[in-house]
Amino acid sequence: MLGAVPSVASLPTSLRDALRAGADLELAAVDTRSTPGIGGKAEAAAARGGIAERLDELQERLFAEGTRSLLLILQGMDTSGKGGTIRHVVTALNPAWVDVAAFKKPTDEELAHHFLWRIERRLPGPGGVTVFDRSHYEDVLVVRVHGLVPPEALPTRYDEIDAFERRLTEAGTTVVKCMLHISRSEQKERLLARLDDPTKHWKFREGDIDERARWDAYQEAYADAIRRCSTDVAPWYVVPADRKWYRNWAIAQLLLETLEDMDPRYPPSTLDVPRLRKRLADER
Ligand code: ATP
Repeated sequence: MLGAVPSVASLPTSLRDALRAGADLELAAVDTRSTPGIGGKAEAAAARGGIAERLDELQERLFAEGTRSLLLILQGMDTSGKGGTIRHVVTALNPAWVDVAAFKKPTDEELAHHFLWRIERRLPGPGGVTVFDRSHYEDVLVVRVHGLVPPEALPTRYDEIDAFERRLTEAGTTVVKCMLHISRSEQKERLLARLDDPTKHWKFREGDIDERARWDAYQEAYADAIRRCSTDVAPWYVVPADRKWYRNWAIAQLLLETLEDMDPRYPPSTLDVPRLRKRLADER
């Protein structure tokens, strides 16, 4: 898992196997600049068109089949590129059948409910693809780092998340969970780049510097949540994300492998083709 490997074609199995996090995950041991599964930027650029074409076809089949769905969960530290990934991945899909849900600090109404309440309301419908920009995992990440729930509440939350994701998958939703893993120094570069560029100032929040000071606590919270909630039915993938081109290629490739595995099928046709052909032939 998570080693530097040459290219998907020569991987023993798939990128999913290469990036999949297990119960023994050590986040600090994952090289955030590594590019498992692909030779380089040029190879990723060359693969882009083919991946987009395959994704487009599989997404159409998923929608036509109309029973199952796909949920892509993106988590990562500030500036890890959740927004950029969404822009990249969603452009490869038919926007009519994609929903993007961003989960911010909960509203008073949301706080009055169980933490999964707001999540349930944004799940994909039959045939749909939904991308979560942050997710229910914030309730074991930021909530833990800021001490918003007592530490003894966390094991129950992990169990609830496992049970929830199991229910989802049993109901036909495939869950793909990706952590965009950047280094602390890369985050500093990205925050400085935002300050250097007046057109990026709108993105800069001073609070991001406060959160950055809690880096180690976040890394620990991420590692625990991933180790604890990476299950056979809903695995976590840790995506090295210091290189944007790699992050974009990897997420698209993970989606592609997942959809290929789901193998959605067009529903059997019920059309009486000869009769319909004749009708059209008889028309002016
Ligand atoms: P960035 O682009 O920097 O990653 P963002 O676009 O996701 O940020 P922000 O409004 O800056 O949007 O961040 C959303 C904030 O909401 C984050 O600080 C996140 O930790 C917080 N948040 C999300 N879910 C919860 C939750 N359940 N409890 C508390 N805070 C939460």
